[in-house]
Amino acid sequence: MSTEARSPWRQALFQLDQAAQIMELPPNVHEILQHPKRILQVSIPVQMDDGRLRVFTGYRVHHNTSRGPSKGGIRYHPEVSLDEVRALAMWMTWKCAVVGIPYGGAKGGVIVDPKELSRGELERMTRRYASEILPLIGPERDIPAPDMGTDDQIMAWIMDTYSMNQGYSVPGVVTGKPVAVGGSLGRGAATSRGVVYVTVATLKHLGFPVDQARVVIQGYGKVGGPAVQLLHDQGCMVVGVSDVMGGVYNPKGLSPMGLAAYKDETGTVAGYPGGESMGSDEVLEVETDVLIPAALEGVITEENAERIKAKLVVEAANGPTTPEADEILHERGVLVVPDILANAGGVTVSYFEWVQDIQAYFWSEEEVNERLREIMESAHVEVIELAEEKKATMRQAATMIGVRRVAEAIETRGLFP
Ligand code: NAD
Repeated sequence: MSTEARSPWRQALFQLDQAAQIMELPPNVHEILQHPKRILQVSIPVQMDDGRLRVFTGYRVHHNTSRGPSKGGIRYHPEVSLDEVRALAMWMTWKCAVVGIPYGGAKGGVIVDPKELSRGELERMTRRYASEILPLIGPERDIPAPDMGTDDQIMAWIMDTYSMNQGYSVPGVVTGKPVAVGGSLGRGAATSRGVVYVTVATLKHLGFPVDQARVVIQGYGKVGGPAVQLLHDQGCMVVGVSDVMGGVYNPKGLSPMGLAAYKDETGTVAGYPGGESMGSDEVLEVETDVLIPAALEGVITEENAERIKAKLVVEAANGPTTPEADEILHERGVLVVPDILANAGGVTVSYFEWVQDIQAYFWSEEEVNERLREIMESAHVEVIELAEEKKATMRQAATMIGVRRVAEAIETRGLFP
């Protein structure tokens, strides 16, 4: 497939244009939303352990800040590109609006394979990247969080770098931090929990018994990993999982605890003895009721969409389905719960973390999970109702809700100067 066809930015613009057309969005607002507010590209020189110097390239993009400070993760991955980062920033704008939290959209990324760096190199790179994007971030401006290839430790280094520059501790500058430095209870599994809430709600909406649902998950990281146990707790049977090294499938079900122990020991789910081994992408096409892509974007394409056997696709990853595949799935009657709804649990609990940091008053895990459930379930109902009213897909409905809320903020604020 060509680079153009794989472009996440093309995909994001297409989704915006489609929603704009159905909802008759004023052309001026449409044009504003087609452009990111600001893009920063930085060079990150790092002293490597062997004495050499390497220069990495990083980005931070703000798509829109009409509804509040911008919010979005930081990705460390060898295939990060500006095209991808600006698409992810646009999706963050809609996502925050869909779940009604007062943020705009942003995203950051560094072109690097974090697994190739030592801990010291990773810390030096992170601190230098943080100091290069310092002019853009801050608790009232733009609040980063983890994404692929980054974690709570990396957030702690960013928080420390920012705080050292300010001269005092500013926990609210990032979310997804360790609890020891102002992180929220429940943040670690929040995205997975949100994915599970909407999966269960959608199965119920379809009249499909939750305890008979077979589920396959592509990606066994911060989102896909915890989702396995949480789905099992709901009575679903996880029959397939994969990560970058490979996949495993067992129509009789995989043991969540067995998988977790195997991953702890070997660093991967590939080769897990409790099922048949297969390729990372092969699990997308196995016999299942629910498919949860939880790795990269652009994995369900016009090339494999015909072979997807699931009746329900829940997008835990951002942008896993290309517009062409979306159409094929829709024609085949496969329901797709879009990323901007399905994985919004992470940014929702990030918002709770920021609120707790600003108030310096912390909540119990039960309170966090309960408030998360309320937000996810009511956003889910709003999307389903609009999709039915407009005879639209869930993606079109969710995008329309997000775009409408952002458009309202733009029009109410007016154009500066
Ligand atoms: P992660 O780095 O913790 O995990 C990514 C997983 O995907 C790993 O298991 C990796 O091995 C696997 N993977 C990578 N390439 C693969 C391939 N070609 N085939 C199969 N598996 C592959 O990242 P994460 O934080 O879990 O993020 C996963 C997705 O969820 C991303 O799209 C991210 O943007 C999205 N997301 C994450 C969060 C969050 O809170 N972490 C929130 C919302 C959305």
